[in-house]
Amino acid sequence: MSDYEVLREQMVEYQLARRGIREPVLSAMAEVPREEFVDEHLRGAAYDDGALPIEAGQTISQPFIVALMVQELGVGPDATVLEIGAGSGYAAAVLSRLVATVHAVERHAVLVEAARERLARLGYDNAHVHHGDGSLGWPDAAPYDGILVSAATRDLPPALIEQLRPGAALVVPVGGAIMGQELKRLVRREDRSLSETDLCAVQFVPLREGIE
Ligand code: SAH
Repeated sequence: MSDYEVLREQMVEYQLARRGIREPVLSAMAEVPREEFVDEHLRGAAYDDGALPIEAGQTISQPFIVALMVQELGVGPDATVLEIGAGSGYAAAVLSRLVATVHAVERHAVLVEAARERLARLGYDNAHVHHGDGSLGWPDAAPYDGILVSAATRDLPPALIEQLRPGAALVVPVGGAIMGQELKRLVRREDRSLSETDLCAVQFVPLREGIE
Protein backbone atom coordinates (compact mmCIF):
# COMPACT_ATOMS: atom_id res chain seq x y z
CA MET A 1 0.00 0.00 0.00
CA SER A 2 1.19 3.54 -0.73
CA ASP A 3 1.50 6.08 2.09
CA TYR A 4 -1.60 7.82 0.76
CA GLU A 5 -3.61 4.60 0.86
CA VAL A 6 -2.62 4.07 4.49
CA LEU A 7 -3.60 7.65 5.36
CA ARG A 8 -6.89 7.25 3.48
CA GLU A 9 -7.76 4.07 5.40
CA GLN A 10 -6.97 5.80 8.68
CA MET A 11 -9.17 8.75 7.67
CA VAL A 12 -12.06 6.39 6.90
CA GLU A 13 -11.71 4.61 10.24
CA TYR A 14 -10.94 7.46 12.65
CA GLN A 15 -12.58 10.52 11.07
CA LEU A 16 -15.59 8.89 9.43
CA ALA A 17 -16.66 5.47 10.75
CA ARG A 18 -16.22 6.52 14.39
CA ARG A 19 -18.35 9.60 13.78
CA GLY A 20 -21.29 7.74 12.31
CA ILE A 21 -20.58 7.61 8.58
CA ARG A 22 -21.80 4.27 7.14
CA GLU A 23 -21.61 2.23 3.95
CA PRO A 24 -21.75 2.87 1.06
CA VAL A 25 -20.27 6.32 1.77
CA LEU A 26 -17.26 4.81 3.60
CA SER A 27 -16.26 2.80 0.52
CA ALA A 28 -16.62 5.82 -1.76
CA MET A 29 -14.42 7.89 0.58
CA ALA A 30 -11.92 5.01 0.68
CA GLU A 31 -11.77 4.94 -3.13
CA VAL A 32 -11.27 8.59 -4.09
CA PRO A 33 -7.63 9.82 -3.85
CA ARG A 34 -8.05 13.17 -2.07
CA GLU A 35 -4.35 14.00 -2.63
CA GLU A 36 -5.18 14.42 -6.35
CA PHE A 37 -7.56 17.29 -5.53
CA VAL A 38 -5.12 19.60 -3.75
CA ASP A 39 -1.93 21.45 -4.78
CA GLU A 40 1.30 19.50 -4.87
CA HIS A 41 2.65 21.18 -1.70
CA LEU A 42 -0.50 20.31 0.30
CA ARG A 43 -0.63 16.62 -0.61
CA GLY A 44 0.90 15.58 2.69
CA ALA A 45 -2.06 17.23 4.45
CA ALA A 46 -4.71 15.72 2.14
CA TYR A 47 -5.98 13.33 4.84
CA ASP A 48 -5.90 15.80 7.74
CA ASP A 49 -9.15 16.29 9.63
CA GLY A 50 -9.91 19.74 8.17
CA ALA A 51 -10.53 21.95 5.16
CA LEU A 52 -7.64 22.91 2.83
CA PRO A 53 -7.13 25.89 0.50
CA ILE A 54 -7.57 25.43 -3.27
CA GLU A 55 -7.20 27.94 -6.12
CA ALA A 56 -9.19 31.19 -6.38
CA GLY A 57 -9.22 31.65 -2.59
CA GLN A 58 -11.68 28.76 -2.10
CA THR A 59 -11.49 25.61 0.05
CA ILE A 60 -11.95 21.86 -0.23
CA SER A 61 -14.20 20.86 2.70
CA GLN A 62 -13.19 18.68 5.65
CA PRO A 63 -13.53 14.96 4.71
CA PHE A 64 -16.09 14.32 7.46
CA ILE A 65 -18.33 17.15 6.23
CA VAL A 66 -18.18 15.86 2.63
CA ALA A 67 -19.09 12.36 3.86
CA LEU A 68 -21.90 13.65 6.07
CA MET A 69 -23.42 15.77 3.28
CA VAL A 70 -23.30 12.87 0.85
CA GLN A 71 -24.81 10.48 3.42
CA GLU A 72 -27.61 12.90 4.27
CA LEU A 73 -28.58 13.17 0.58
CA GLY A 74 -29.77 9.59 0.95
CA VAL A 75 -29.47 8.80 -2.75
CA GLY A 76 -29.04 5.43 -4.47
CA PRO A 77 -27.21 4.07 -7.52
CA ASP A 78 -29.83 5.24 -10.04
CA ALA A 79 -29.84 8.85 -8.86
CA THR A 80 -28.98 12.02 -10.75
CA VAL A 81 -27.49 14.54 -8.34
CA LEU A 82 -26.60 18.23 -8.52
CA GLU A 83 -23.75 19.87 -6.61
CA ILE A 84 -23.44 23.66 -6.37
CA GLY A 85 -19.83 24.76 -5.81
CA ALA A 86 -17.70 22.04 -7.44
CA GLY A 87 -14.43 23.66 -6.26
CA SER A 88 -11.70 21.04 -6.60
CA GLY A 89 -14.20 18.42 -7.80
CA TYR A 90 -13.60 16.22 -4.74
CA ALA A 91 -17.19 16.00 -3.47
CA ALA A 92 -18.38 15.41 -7.06
CA ALA A 93 -15.84 12.58 -7.33
CA VAL A 94 -17.12 10.96 -4.11
CA LEU A 95 -20.72 11.31 -5.32
CA SER A 96 -19.81 9.82 -8.70
CA ARG A 97 -18.92 6.55 -6.96
CA LEU A 98 -22.42 6.30 -5.45
CA VAL A 99 -24.90 7.55 -8.06
CA ALA A 100 -25.54 7.31 -11.81
CA THR A 101 -24.83 10.92 -12.79
CA VAL A 102 -23.40 14.00 -11.08
CA HIS A 103 -23.77 17.54 -12.39
CA ALA A 104 -21.60 20.05 -10.53
CA VAL A 105 -21.71 23.82 -11.13
CA GLU A 106 -18.78 26.13 -10.32
CA ARG A 107 -18.54 29.92 -10.84
CA HIS A 108 -14.69 30.16 -11.15
CA ALA A 109 -13.42 29.17 -14.62
CA VAL A 110 -9.97 28.17 -13.27
CA LEU A 111 -11.55 25.74 -10.82
CA VAL A 112 -13.84 24.31 -13.52
CA GLU A 113 -10.84 23.52 -15.74
CA ALA A 114 -8.85 21.93 -12.91
CA ALA A 115 -11.80 19.86 -11.66
CA ARG A 116 -12.64 18.61 -15.17
CA GLU A 117 -9.02 17.61 -15.76
CA ARG A 118 -8.83 15.65 -12.47
CA LEU A 119 -12.14 13.87 -12.92
CA ALA A 120 -11.20 12.87 -16.49
CA ARG A 121 -7.75 11.66 -15.42
CA LEU A 122 -9.29 9.51 -12.67
CA GLY A 123 -11.90 8.13 -15.08
CA TYR A 124 -14.91 9.51 -13.19
CA ASP A 125 -16.83 9.95 -16.45
CA ASN A 126 -20.26 10.26 -14.85
CA ALA A 127 -19.34 13.55 -13.10
CA HIS A 128 -19.86 16.65 -15.25
CA VAL A 129 -18.56 20.07 -14.20
CA HIS A 130 -20.35 23.12 -15.63
CA HIS A 131 -19.20 26.74 -15.55
CA GLY A 132 -22.08 28.85 -14.27
CA ASP A 133 -23.85 30.58 -11.41
CA GLY A 134 -25.15 27.75 -9.27
CA SER A 135 -27.81 29.94 -7.66
CA LEU A 136 -29.68 29.25 -10.90
CA GLY A 137 -29.15 25.50 -10.46
CA TRP A 138 -28.58 23.53 -13.67
CA PRO A 139 -32.00 23.31 -15.35
CA ASP A 140 -30.84 21.15 -18.29
CA ALA A 141 -30.73 17.93 -16.24
CA ALA A 142 -33.49 18.71 -13.69
CA PRO A 143 -35.27 17.38 -11.70
CA TYR A 144 -32.61 16.01 -9.34
CA ASP A 145 -32.84 13.16 -6.82
CA GLY A 146 -30.66 15.20 -4.49
CA ILE A 147 -28.92 18.58 -4.38
CA LEU A 148 -25.80 19.33 -2.38
CA VAL A 149 -24.84 22.99 -1.89
CA SER A 150 -21.16 23.39 -1.00
CA ALA A 151 -21.31 27.15 -0.26
CA ALA A 152 -23.22 29.00 2.45
CA THR A 153 -26.30 31.11 1.83
CA ARG A 154 -28.79 33.05 3.97
CA ASP A 155 -31.57 32.72 1.43
CA LEU A 156 -31.97 29.50 -0.46
CA PRO A 157 -32.16 30.22 -4.23
CA PRO A 158 -35.72 29.31 -5.40
CA ALA A 159 -34.32 27.64 -8.55
CA LEU A 160 -32.82 24.90 -6.38
CA ILE A 161 -36.18 23.98 -4.83
CA GLU A 162 -37.70 24.14 -8.30
CA GLN A 163 -35.18 21.61 -9.63
CA LEU A 164 -35.54 19.17 -6.71
CA ARG A 165 -37.74 16.11 -7.25
CA PRO A 166 -40.59 15.85 -4.69
CA GLY A 167 -39.42 13.61 -1.84
CA ALA A 168 -35.75 14.41 -2.53
CA ALA A 169 -33.29 16.11 -0.17
CA LEU A 170 -31.24 19.26 -0.45
CA VAL A 171 -28.26 19.54 1.92
CA VAL A 172 -27.10 23.13 2.41
CA PRO A 173 -25.15 25.31 4.85
CA VAL A 174 -27.50 28.14 5.81
CA GLY A 175 -26.12 31.34 7.33
CA GLY A 176 -23.89 34.39 6.89
CA ALA A 177 -20.42 34.79 5.42
CA ILE A 178 -18.43 33.03 8.13
CA MET A 179 -19.99 32.57 11.55
CA GLY A 180 -23.25 31.00 12.59
CA GLN A 181 -23.81 28.64 9.68
CA GLU A 182 -25.94 25.53 10.19
CA LEU A 183 -25.85 22.55 7.84
CA LYS A 184 -29.47 21.69 7.03
CA ARG A 185 -31.27 18.86 5.30
CA LEU A 186 -34.38 20.07 3.49
CA VAL A 187 -36.81 17.61 1.94
CA ARG A 188 -39.24 18.82 -0.71
CA ARG A 189 -42.80 17.67 -0.10
CA GLU A 190 -45.35 17.09 -2.89
CA ASP A 191 -46.88 20.54 -2.23
CA ARG A 192 -43.43 22.22 -2.64
CA SER A 193 -43.15 23.02 1.06
CA LEU A 194 -39.97 21.88 2.83
CA SER A 195 -39.33 19.81 5.93
CA GLU A 196 -36.18 20.95 7.67
CA THR A 197 -33.61 19.14 9.85
CA ASP A 198 -30.56 20.80 11.42
CA LEU A 199 -27.44 18.63 11.12
CA CYS A 200 -24.50 20.55 12.64
CA ALA A 201 -22.63 23.86 12.79
CA VAL A 202 -20.32 24.39 9.80
CA GLN A 203 -18.06 26.97 8.18
CA PHE A 204 -18.30 27.29 4.40
CA VAL A 205 -17.24 29.96 1.89
CA PRO A 206 -20.24 32.06 0.78
CA LEU A 207 -22.42 31.37 -2.26
CA ARG A 208 -21.79 34.36 -4.58
CA GLU A 209 -23.72 35.56 -7.59
CA GLY A 210 -22.28 35.73 -11.10
CA ILE A 211 -19.31 33.93 -12.64
CA GLU A 212 -15.56 34.64 -12.85
N1 SAH B 1 -17.18 20.82 -3.00
C1 SAH B 1 -15.92 21.51 -3.14
C2 SAH B 1 -15.77 22.61 -2.11
C3 SAH B 1 -15.84 23.89 -2.78
S1 SAH B 1 -15.85 25.35 -1.78
C4 SAH B 1 -14.77 20.53 -3.12
O1 SAH B 1 -15.03 19.36 -2.85
O2 SAH B 1 -13.63 20.94 -3.36
C5 SAH B 1 -17.27 26.14 -2.47
C6 SAH B 1 -17.20 26.47 -3.93
O3 SAH B 1 -18.42 27.11 -4.27
C7 SAH B 1 -16.09 27.43 -4.35
O4 SAH B 1 -15.29 26.82 -5.31
C8 SAH B 1 -16.85 28.63 -4.92
O5 SAH B 1 -16.19 29.22 -6.04
C9 SAH B 1 -18.17 28.00 -5.33
N2 SAH B 1 -19.30 28.90 -5.48
C10 SAH B 1 -19.66 29.94 -4.69
N3 SAH B 1 -20.78 30.52 -5.16
C11 SAH B 1 -21.13 29.83 -6.29
C12 SAH B 1 -22.18 29.94 -7.23
N4 SAH B 1 -23.12 30.88 -7.15
N5 SAH B 1 -22.23 29.06 -8.24
C13 SAH B 1 -21.29 28.08 -8.36
N6 SAH B 1 -20.27 27.92 -7.51
C14 SAH B 1 -20.18 28.79 -6.48
